[in-house]
Amino acid sequence: MMKSYQVSKDGFYGEFGGAYVPESLSCAMNGLRTAYLEILESDDFRKEYHALLKDYVGRPSPLYHAERMSRKYGCRLYLKREDLNHTGAHKINNAIGQLLLARRLGKKRIIAETGAGQHGVAVATVCALMDMPCRIYMGAIDVERQRVNVERMRMLGAEVCPVCSGGSALTEAVDVAIADWCEHPDDTFYVIGSAVGPHPYPDMVARLQSVISKEIKEQLMEHEGRDYPDYLMACVGGGSNAAGTIYHYLDDTRVKIVLGEAGGHGAESGETAATMSCGTPGIIHGSRTLVMQDDKGHVMEPYSISAGLDYPGVGPLHAHLSQTRRAEIISVNDDEALRAAFELTRMEGIIPALESSHALAMLPKMKFRPDDVVVLTVSGRGDKDIETYLAKRNEIEV
Ligand SMILES: *Cc1c(COP(=O)(O)O)cnc(C)c1O
Repeated sequence: MMKSYQVSKDGFYGEFGGAYVPESLSCAMNGLRTAYLEILESDDFRKEYHALLKDYVGRPSPLYHAERMSRKYGCRLYLKREDLNHTGAHKINNAIGQLLLARRLGKKRIIAETGAGQHGVAVATVCALMDMPCRIYMGAIDVERQRVNVERMRMLGAEVCPVCSGGSALTEAVDVAIADWCEHPDDTFYVIGSAVGPHPYPDMVARLQSVISKEIKEQLMEHEGRDYPDYLMACVGGGSNAAGTIYHYLDDTRVKIVLGEAGGHGAESGETAATMSCGTPGIIHGSRTLVMQDDKGHVMEPYSISAGLDYPGVGPLHAHLSQTRRAEIISVNDDEALRAAFELTRMEGIIPALESSHALAMLPKMKFRPDDVVVLTVSGRGDKDIETYLAKRNEIEV
């Protein structure tokens, strides 16, 4: 019972996970797999990691009791403010951890891929801090959609490489990043930005983000006199902010887990990124998980208004939580997310990222009791999405 939702020794969560990588990477992957736990748990690593989280990122991020929203939704709603981190989202927690790990493995060059640009900015930021050369792959469409983040990465000293194959989005950027790594497995570290990819990445990323739920425990104790909520809510792209939010509560069945994925124009519409609602088991980017694919196993092009959720796969942990019903999965459409963004802005004075708005948009779909304690993670801030918000503002009644 106790360890049921943790990763197994060979990297599986139930039937999902594993490491399906090309032969040319098996040596680098073996090195990582045998080393990561010992490094992550060493005193030396923990000291350096937590010092940077505190003084560079600005942790702990606040747990804010949102009173007006609590009244509206009939519960005690707390927002976990990852939007207040340096670089504006939770991704920096992971980027710092993986860079510290890369250094300890003697790697000299960093590569990464990015969708919304948030992971790219986090990696470029930490590479500047640690004086490491850095190349970021990004779909050509995302380069267009996220201009400001591209310029931030370049200003930080990263080389940004637009990828023009296929749908020119995150999926293709991941393919090219993997190809780069296959060519340079010895000196290069591939920083994956979400709880996806071959083992041990999903577990490593979940552990590096688990600082979120560790803080939630302490902060709830302070606010509520008990260290667990009734509900944990988060959005899921690949699943890293959600994994961090739930990590220390996975085996605590008092806590209900509710995850929001991107419905796009609707899970049934064909224009969607609702992988857990629409996907079937398959292998994508090195792990067995739920994938949006046709009968022949061709990966479908995902769609969401949010570049950070626009991915046809999902982390293997989340596929497992969905399949075992440990987590309730709700598909949130573009218009619902937009409405939620305007609502939080007007009611609490917080402009959330479009991704985070997918978590907020689940609130009207819930049935809470008045004394339910609900913790919802605001994964990032909305500065990067202002143009979208302005363009859509007239379509949304606030
Ligand atoms: C990247 C991103 C996400 C989605 O990624 P996860 O790995 O699912 O957390 C969510 N919110 C923000 C603000 C992001 O930048």
